[in-house]
Amino acid sequence: MAKKASFNAFEMARTQFDKIADMIGLDSATRDLLRTPMREYHFNIPVRMDDGSVTVFRGFRCQHNDARGPAKGGIRFHPQETIDTVRALSMWMTWKCAAVDIPLGGGKGGVICDPHNLSAREQEGICRGWVRQLSQNIGPVSDIPAPDVMTSAQHMLWMLDEFETIHAGHYPGLITGKPVGMGGSLGRKQATGYGVVYTLREALKELDIQPENTTASFQGFGNVSQYAIELYHQLGGKVICVSSWDQDDQTSYAFLKKDGVDLEQLRSITDRFGGIDKGKAADLGYEVLPGKAWLEQDVEILIPSALENQISGDNVGGISDRVKIIAEGANGPSTPEADEVIHKRGIFVIPDFLANAGGVTCSYFEQVQSNMNYFWEKDEVLGKLDTKMTSAFAAVNVLARNKKLYMRDAAYVIAVGRVAQACKDRGWV
Ligand code: NAD
Repeated sequence: MAKKASFNAFEMARTQFDKIADMIGLDSATRDLLRTPMREYHFNIPVRMDDGSVTVFRGFRCQHNDARGPAKGGIRFHPQETIDTVRALSMWMTWKCAAVDIPLGGGKGGVICDPHNLSAREQEGICRGWVRQLSQNIGPVSDIPAPDVMTSAQHMLWMLDEFETIHAGHYPGLITGKPVGMGGSLGRKQATGYGVVYTLREALKELDIQPENTTASFQGFGNVSQYAIELYHQLGGKVICVSSWDQDDQTSYAFLKKDGVDLEQLRSITDRFGGIDKGKAADLGYEVLPGKAWLEQDVEILIPSALENQISGDNVGGISDRVKIIAEGANGPSTPEADEVIHKRGIFVIPDFLANAGGVTCSYFEQVQSNMNYFWEKDEVLGKLDTKMTSAFAAVNVLARNKKLYMRDAAYVIAVGRVAQACKDRGWV
C-alpha cells in the first residue's frame, strides 16, 4: 500500500475552499486570488540566549486577504510550526472575520520555537525580533496580530512596545490580546471559549436538547477549553473528560471523571501551557487514559480545542453513536476525510471558523476600544459578543436549513461570498 501523505493544513484549507468555489460558481480570477495569501513574509530572528550564544529562530507572517479590512490573526509559538500551517490559518481567519461580519481580513503568524524551553527574557527577544522584521508590514490599519497557541498578553505587550519604540508613538490598535489596563479588553480571555458555548447553546436549541441533559468531552485544557467549560457548566452541562499534552512524556493524556470534572480543581494542577499534572490528577480520582480517549467517550457533545488534524480518517470511527454535536473550538481539528464521515452520520457540526470566532470578535472590540481610548465594562463586552455570535450562528443555521446544506458548507458559502463580493466591489477581480 502506498505510504499515506503527511497532513498539510494548507491543502486541507484549499480543499475546503475549492469545494465551496465550485458550489457557488466562483470565477477563476477570484479563485486564484483567494486560494493563496496575498502577501507572506519569511524571516530569521537572531536572539542572544541567556548563556551568551545566539540562536536563529524562523518566523512567518501571512496576510491572506484584506479586502474587508486590515488583516487580523494570531501569532503561534510552536516547535512544529510550518509556513503551510500559517497559510491555512490565515485563510481560515479571512473566513472567520467574514462569517461574524466584522470589518477585518485574515492573517496569521508563527515562530518555530518551544516556549517550554525558553526563559522569559529569551521569549521577549523573539517577540521584539519578530516585530523588528515586520515593523513596516504590520500596523493598526494594515495588519493587527494577536495571541494564539503558546503566546500570551505579555508577548503582545513586548511586541507593542517594540513597535511603538520603532515608530515613536502610541499605537494601541496595533495588537490585541494586551493585558487589561494596558489597552486590553475585559472579557478577552473568556471570549473564544464563551463564544464556542454561545454557538453550542444555539445548536442545542436547534436540536431541541436541554443543556442540563448533556455531557461533553474536550480535547485540550488551555484558554479555549477552560472558558468553554466554565460557561457550559453555567448552562448546566456536565464535562466528563478533558485531555492535554504532557511535555515530559511527549504524548497526550485524557482525564476521565464520570461524575463530572471540577474545573477549579483541574486548573489548580495545570501549568501555564494547559498541561495537566497526571500524577496529581490520578490522586484526585481522575482516570488517566491515552490521549485519544477524549474522542471515544459516550457523550452528546465533543469539543476539540487543542490543535488542527485531530479527528482524522483513522480515528473518526471511534466517535460514539451518542454524539449529537461537535463544536470545533480549535482551528481545523477535523480532516476532510473525517468530516465526510461526520456529515454522513448526521452529527451537527459547528465549524471552527464560526465556533471559535469569539476570540477575533473580542479582539475587534479591543481594537475599537484601543483606538478610541475608552474601555467598556466586562458585561458590555460579553453581551456584544453574545449578540454577534448568536446572529452569525443564526445566519449559517438558516442557510443550512433552507438549502439543506451541511453547517460547514453553509458557513463557507456565507464567508467566501462576502469576501468575494468585497474583492469585486473594490475592482480587484
Ligand atoms: P492553549 O495553548 O492555551 O491550549 C492548548 C491546549 O491543548 C493545552 O491544554 C495543551 O496541553 C493541549 N494540547 C496540545 N496538543 C495536544 C494533543 N496532541 N492532545 C491533547 N491536547 C493537546 O491554546 P488555546 O488558545 O486554547 O487554543 C486551542 C486551539 O484553539 C488552537 O487550535 C487555536 O488556534 C484555536 N483558537 C484559539 C483562540 C484563542 O483565542 N485562544 C481563538 C481561536 C482559535
